[in-house]
This record gives sequence, structure tokens and C-alpha cells, in this order.
Amino acid sequence: MPTELRVLDDGAWVSVDNERRVPTSDVWRFAATDFCACATAFVLLEAFTDVGVQGCEVTVDGVGRCVDCGEKHAFSGLGVGRVLEGSFRPYPPDGVRAGSEPTV
Ligand SMILES: [Zn+2]
Repeated sequence: MPTELRVLDDGAWVSVDNERRVPTSDVWRFAATDFCACATAFVLLEAFTDVGVQGCEVTVDGVGRCVDCGEKHAFSGLGVGRVLEGSFRPYPPDGVRAGSEPTV
């Protein structure tokens, strides 16, 4: 089943099947990723640069900033949701997703 994935609005949104589904304005918790010196980084997403699929998981590349220490980095491979039976199910940004955390 085709699922169309695109980055829209200069990186502000990930679009799934022509609907804006994942915004940059959310704060995502990176517990396993070595994003900055914080034990758990709370990362405000600033821009998406790419979106893709790994298995049934939708992953994004982009740039984010830790809201505690202010460090800003590019990351890749953040899982933002899954495609199940042809429809997109977004992950909660503050959920624990050790298996789908990005690399920096
Ligand atoms: Zn930090």
C-alpha cells in the first residue's frame, strides 16, 4: 500500500499521504541518544531535512535543540510513527522509544 512521505513548508512538517502529520514544534525525549551532556535530552525539533521508511516505521532526519542546555545538532533516523494497515500512527513525542531513537 503506497504511503507518500514528504517534508513540507521549509522543513516545518512531515506530510503523510498529503496530510501534515508531524510538526517541528514538539519536544521529543532522547533518552538513549547521546545528543548533548544531559542524561535525557528534551529536544525541540527545529527543521526536518528528510523523511523515509525503515520497515514499517517512519523516520526523519533533521535539526533539533536541547531545551535544557541549548545545544543544537543534526540527527538522523528518529522514529516518529508507524504505518499499520496503510494508515499512519504517530508516536507520542514524550514516549519511551529506545528502539527508534536517532543518531547524532
Ligand atoms: Zn542538553
